[in-house]
Amino acid sequence: MIEKSSSFLIILSAPSGGGKSTILNEILKVTDNIDYSVSYTTRNPRGVEQNGIHYNFVDEAEFLTRIDSGDFLEHARVFGNWYGTSISYIKSRLGKHRHVIMDIDVQGASLISATDIPYVKIFIIPPSMEILKQRLVLRATDSPEEIAKRLRTAHDELAYIPHYDYLVVNDDLTQAVEDVLAIIRAEENRVHRYSKPVEGFWSGEKNT
Ligand code: 5GP
Repeated sequence: MIEKSSSFLIILSAPSGGGKSTILNEILKVTDNIDYSVSYTTRNPRGVEQNGIHYNFVDEAEFLTRIDSGDFLEHARVFGNWYGTSISYIKSRLGKHRHVIMDIDVQGASLISATDIPYVKIFIIPPSMEILKQRLVLRATDSPEEIAKRLRTAHDELAYIPHYDYLVVNDDLTQAVEDVLAIIRAEENRVHRYSKPVEGFWSGEKNT
């Protein structure tokens, strides 16, 4: 029997307001082999966000202790706050042959590329800067100063696109979700993700 291909990290990055959280939630709804990596952050919860579900909200002292203890696979400072990915969570889920999807910034994604953990990196982009602006304003979760900061950062984030494996234009949500699902499916079938497929194929055959 050929064994299932190995699991991997599905790294989603996008400018703030690019729609990655919505896409990510849709992916989790329609798949049963993917877990979500809940990041640690020092920023304050927004709106309906709950501790342990959207983020693990911690203070700066705890975050710095966790850095020193080597708890993070990657961590970065984004918009003046710390964000980090739990290494123990990632390892436990991959060890159970489950993919882990994560929403992290371009710095964190680069740091993960330098590790030996298997991944696919997907960049999600709105169709234009004008639409990104409209989405941030409509979202109504950030102050005008915060929105201006996020738009300035978007400019720098886009420079990282060549370092990603795939680019999904989030014009239509359903189509963007389908695109991400298609990428995951294709990645699962990459030859290098299988361990010894030919041996698996022949196993159980008696020598004649
Ligand atoms: P927000 O505060 O809007 O939820 O997220 C701000 C930025 O931090 C987004 O670009 C998001 O992808 C990024 N982010 C969230 N969690 C992590 C993480 O664990 N590591 C890194 N490097 N970035 C993260």
